[in-house]
Amino acid sequence: MAALIPPRPDQGLGAGYHSPQVDVAVRLNTNESPYPPPQAWVDELAAAVTAIAFNRYPDRSATALRAGLAELHGVRPEQVFAANGSNEVLQVLLLTYGGPGRSVAVFEPTYALHSHIARLTGTAVATGDRAPDFTLDPGEVKRVLADADPAVTFLCSPNNPTGRADPRAVVTDVVDLAPGLVVVDEAYGQFAPWSAVELVDDDAGLAVVRTYSKTWSMAAARLGYVIGPASLVAEMEARALPYHLDAVKQAAGLLALRYRAEMDARVRAVAAERDRLFAALADLDLETWPSDANFILFRPRSRPSAEVWQGLLDRSVLVRNCNSWPGLDGCLRVTVGTPAEDDTFLAAVTEVL
Ligand SMILES: *Cc1c(COP(=O)(O)O)cnc(C)c1O
Repeated sequence: MAALIPPRPDQGLGAGYHSPQVDVAVRLNTNESPYPPPQAWVDELAAAVTAIAFNRYPDRSATALRAGLAELHGVRPEQVFAANGSNEVLQVLLLTYGGPGRSVAVFEPTYALHSHIARLTGTAVATGDRAPDFTLDPGEVKRVLADADPAVTFLCSPNNPTGRADPRAVVTDVVDLAPGLVVVDEAYGQFAPWSAVELVDDDAGLAVVRTYSKTWSMAAARLGYVIGPASLVAEMEARALPYHLDAVKQAAGLLALRYRAEMDARVRAVAAERDRLFAALADLDLETWPSDANFILFRPRSRPSAEVWQGLLDRSVLVRNCNSWPGLDGCLRVTVGTPAEDDTFLAAVTEVL
């Protein structure tokens, strides 16, 4: 008789990654843009959707979207692979280059999905520690790469949840040193002073992952992509599910590229607001770390993070409690919101502390 058997044992998944989705007035827990996309984009998308032949499968190669993204980044369309959020991009990357007998290297604290998706795909995880200020420590990077010989080395720049972007020289050093692929997750790349996309080359083991979820104000669309060597893209395409990228999403992503100026303006507004928030937090009884992204990591000096998190929630403000993340005891992360949302957060956190 059919039996509800245990799941495969090799994945070793810990507690779930998911941030609670609670109904609150001020949602500052998942690093989305606080601003909606331009109304003109919504209208254009609505018109484009009416023109879709819904009885037919979508363009399997997402030809137009990839051409648009290639133009945006100054690369060739064969160097672009898109999927349902950059998380799915990472999953296809690890289906392609990870797996049993292989490992990835991550430097904690960093984005939890890198090690989570590695485990899901049966890939071992080798962990290095960041320096006390959360920058990459060259000696530690060298040690981990030599010990683990990882198939994939993950960087995250700017790093979620600590906030800093890696300087160009640090990334090029890791690329020189790594025995396998280097994957740079640039989910917040538009806030950073430079992009590793400029280092992508058909002959280099470097891939850069980007997403529409943050700066493009399109988290609901679930669209991300990787820029990398054409051969890597071809291998990933061979492993993705057929027609994985639906027609609505392809249209949404392509149309968004017409609104780059509006996106850049939103990035500038959020960065200015981040700096205001950072300055205001300096007056409170907490430690903060500088950020090149749209969020700020902070540690209350005299209150446990769970109490602060709950105190904020009681005031209808939701932030991320990072206490259980490696190396982040007592830390919380707040996403930059609108000026009004940030004022509500500042008033609430002042009261709670
Ligand atoms: C938010 C985030 C992503 C986004 O994932 P999507 O699946 O594209 O929404 C990827 N990487 C990092 C580091 C992030 O913080």
